[in-house]
Amino acid sequence: LVQLRGVRKHFGQLEVLKGISMDVHAGQVTVLLGPSGSGKSTLLRCINHLESIDGGRITVDGEIVGYREAGDHLREMHPREVARQRRSIGMVFQRFNLFPHKTALENIIEAPLVVSRRGKAEAIANARELLRRVGLDAWADHYPSQLSGGQQQRVAIARALAMKPKLMLFDEPTSALDPELVGDVLDVMKELAAEGMTMVVVTHEIGFAREVADEVVFMDGGVVVESGPPAQVIEQPEHERTRGFIRSVL
Ligand code: ATP
Ligand code: MG
Repeated sequence: LVQLRGVRKHFGQLEVLKGISMDVHAGQVTVLLGPSGSGKSTLLRCINHLESIDGGRITVDGEIVGYREAGDHLREMHPREVARQRRSIGMVFQRFNLFPHKTALENIIEAPLVVSRRGKAEAIANARELLRRVGLDAWADHYPSQLSGGQQQRVAIARALAMKPKLMLFDEPTSALDPELVGDVLDVMKELAAEGMTMVVVTHEIGFAREVADEVVFMDGGVVVESGPPAQVIEQPEHERTRGFIRSVL
């Protein structure tokens, strides 16, 4: 479903992604691991074109993200086209950034109401079903400030799912949470994975990676150091840098 080929990105002089290639197959979960500053968030942001790229290409479901082919080079896509592409990619951040003046339910129906002509009743019915899936059916009318961090993050996941994305990107979704709230969020993500959602997840939760990931990609310094099934990358890493990192987060 997702292909990255030689993806490069720099900020000024700093080259953050130095030619990243990877594939994420439909229905699979890829966990991105790597030390701070290795380029994980930047890579995720490139996949839905929150960041432009300087080289290589990214395709999602056969479409180049953010660019059109123009002869032998790529040209930036019209923002309207980028917005259309982004609708099929859900993203969940470390900070849940819900709209504070909207209830859980209103947060979830916001995007579907804006972009689709489907009626409000259908958006609400769908939102209630999503709230049930994330275990928050009783919290529809609460405001973010009345919810715990873990509950807010589950609303944020439901909100991303409301657009019926084919791909979900998670950037350290549990690292801002109190430890006792992490499990509920991971459970929702596990369920989503079991239902066949294609996911790319940046996390330091090694237990989650072990249990849920089809592939683990270890990045350092803007390159993929090694990748493979968790049994290989986590239990028997080939590279010293990977071994050191795994040790540090266990
Ligand atoms: P962390 O684990 O701390 O979240 P990361 O692997 O997600 O790290 P990135 O956030 O992708 O790393 O950042 C990679 C490098 O790019 C860092 O050196 C960072 O300072 C730099 N960087 C990221 N975004 C920008 C930006 N908008 N402008 C300039 N430099 C940036
Ligand atoms: Mg990051």
